[in-house]
Formats: sequence, structure tokens, C-alpha cells
Amino acid sequence: MKPKKHEDEYVWVEELQQRMAKQQKEQQAASAAEKLRLKEAHWMHCPKCGQKLSMEKCGAVEIDVCPSCKGVWLDAGELGTIVENAAQGSFFHNCLRILRGR
Ligand SMILES: [Zn+2]
Repeated sequence: MKPKKHEDEYVWVEELQQRMAKQQKEQQAASAAEKLRLKEAHWMHCPKCGQKLSMEKCGAVEIDVCPSCKGVWLDAGELGTIVENAAQGSFFHNCLRILRGR
């Protein structure tokens, strides 16, 4: 019998995969015009407060920072790059410097 923690992780991964598959189906069903309208309305705007995001160089990646709520957003693949470079210890220091400088 597996430990409970592993069962919880398995259930969580299964649920996450089901939700992602459902969202992918919904996105595929949306028309091209609707996709374009949504992209134009939301591109480079904070998903939390709606303000315009600014781009900040942070080590090996360029992060999107909200000047209003201080949220930090990553594009696809950037988290992997950050994790790969984390051993050098510069990412969190740079993020902290960017956020404190505002
Ligand atoms: Zn924001």
C-alpha cells in the first residue's frame, strides 16, 4: 500500500491533467476571432489587477512585472530556465532588487 502522500499527489496530478484537457478542448472550440479578441484585450496585462505589465531583465529571463500589485509572471519555459540557473543564486536576489526598486 502506497503512503497517503503519494496517493494525494497522484489524485492531484490526475485532476490537474483533467482540468488542463478540459481547458484545451474549450480553447480549441473557441473561434479564431474570439481568440484574437481575447489576446488583444489581455496581452501584457496583469491577470490579477488588469494593469499594464512591464518587462524586467532578471538573470537569464525577462519577467513580466505588475507595477501595481507587484505580481511577477513568467512565460512558458522561463521557470525551467530559472530553476536551471538557481544554483548560481542570482535569480531571487535580482527579483528582490527589481521589486524593492519600485
Ligand atoms: Zn497586478
